[in-house]
Amino acid sequence: MAINFPIPTYFIDMVFINRLKSFLTKSFFSHHLPTHLRHDSAALSSAATDFGHIVTNPPAAVLFPTSINDLVTLLKLANSRSIPFNVAAKGCGHSVHGQAMAQNGVVVEMTSLNNNPTRISISGSADAGFFADVGGEQMWIDVLNATLKHGLAPPSWTDYLYLTVGGTLSNAGISGQTFRYGPQICNVVELDVVTGKGDIVSCSAEKNNELFNSVLGGLGQFGIIVRARIPLFPAPNRVKWVRMLYNNFDEFVKDQENLISMNSNDDGGLDYLEGLLLMHDGPPDNWRSSFFPPSHHSTIISLVNQHSIIYCLEVAKYYDDHSRHTINQELDDSLEGLNFLPGYKFEKDVSYVEFLNRVRGGELSLRSQGLWDVPHPWLNLFVPKSRIAEFDLGVFKDIILKRKIASGPILIYPMNRNKWDEKMSAIIPEEEVFYTIGFLNSSGYDNWEAIEEQNKEILSFCDSVDMKIKQYLPHYNTKEDWEKHFGNKWKIFQDRKNQFDPKMILSPGQKIFNS
Ligand code: FAD
Repeated sequence: MAINFPIPTYFIDMVFINRLKSFLTKSFFSHHLPTHLRHDSAALSSAATDFGHIVTNPPAAVLFPTSINDLVTLLKLANSRSIPFNVAAKGCGHSVHGQAMAQNGVVVEMTSLNNNPTRISISGSADAGFFADVGGEQMWIDVLNATLKHGLAPPSWTDYLYLTVGGTLSNAGISGQTFRYGPQICNVVELDVVTGKGDIVSCSAEKNNELFNSVLGGLGQFGIIVRARIPLFPAPNRVKWVRMLYNNFDEFVKDQENLISMNSNDDGGLDYLEGLLLMHDGPPDNWRSSFFPPSHHSTIISLVNQHSIIYCLEVAKYYDDHSRHTINQELDDSLEGLNFLPGYKFEKDVSYVEFLNRVRGGELSLRSQGLWDVPHPWLNLFVPKSRIAEFDLGVFKDIILKRKIASGPILIYPMNRNKWDEKMSAIIPEEEVFYTIGFLNSSGYDNWEAIEEQNKEILSFCDSVDMKIKQYLPHYNTKEDWEKHFGNKWKIFQDRKNQFDPKMILSPGQKIFNS
């Protein structure tokens, strides 16, 4: 009598992995690409982890492409199989919940395309406008350095520049410039994309616009961005950078909201606005930027201890040689009437590069102490303006203050919805003004779960009062949660998936279509 043994899952996985490896290796050999596909432990373990250090999912193989054709070959191959294998483009792996992983599939290390020096090129004229054509694998720091050689720069940034163009365009790309210039996805005019079907398609708002809108903010679901055309503008060379402290949340957000409404046009005004919380003991500076004069640290710490939470409004205004005589007056005019605590306004005058690259110093310092490659249980939210006071009371003043386990910067700043494009895949709240809140926690390997629990508590609080928040850099485990996240854009998101990646091959680590 035959006995049917249940086959353990790990056994099935190993069979699949081995078949995939051998198939891929043979196929790539036949395309003369033997050295680009690796499944040694160094390649696999690097692709199995990310900045979050919370999720570990090894792929079956890792592709190190040297040309766009390598991506086409890989995706055509995935489509030609009766059981397709998954493919995830990985930028720098700065996701925190495995979004750039492909368990048992193939991870594409996009930065290996970076060996080609022509993958950032500048073109245009004063009349027609200037553009940078940039490979999706390029990091924003390299875009900045290349464009500055021409005295030009993109207007919209992220706080940290060691992120890839394809990675941030798959989310939104936000920072203190967003209220005025829009997110990075709204500062792109053309893309080249290798779709989930393996076709190379150029797209823009005019040409193949369905793909263009799908991919921008599309969480890697529709195609791999291999080129982005980014408009450039004359770059300033210096920045006035100001921080002001508040102990009253209402005054703090009122000032933030007034500033973003008064400065959102192109005719001068502030170029950047963010905000952060100062809490608990410890130095007022954090790894994200060192700002406060050391001589004021003890006064600021006393202020924090006295009030438990101090809100810090941060603004910047760019200037150059032409405006250097008027910048101080212009800045004073912009900040007139603000209600920060008297005596708690601090100012720095830095180069444009120093300002944009302000997070790098903190990163290098943490790296040197072995504190960079640690778990990062981050939570990033968009909160409608009408609910922000409730958020302050229920989250900052209750959950965060009581537990005291949050460890890392907490950012809070508003943005204007009219600087975003509803047609794109990115999801934001319905209100005209909404806040981004970033809990950028670092932890040890033994306590990240407690912080994840706290993150869940924050989310359930928001749910319990129906706050209508949206996650930025979203992370969900169930289809129901994704449906809720996309709301009335869920159907269109699904239709786009069926159109551009019908076999559900791309970016499985987002867990939208691949649970
Ligand atoms: P990855 O993490 O490698 O990939 C992210 C997703 O995009 C994955 O699903 C991946 O499959 C997909 N993907 C990657 N490349 C491509 C491509 N070429 N085409 C299509 N899909 C692709 N974000 C902000 O908006 N503002 C900030 O100020 C900011 N600061 C940050 C600071 C730090 C220290 C860190 C670690 C992250 C920060 N982020 C910020 C988040 C960042 O935007 C995301 O992590 C983003 O995913 C970019 O990282 P990456 O290039 O490493 O992409």
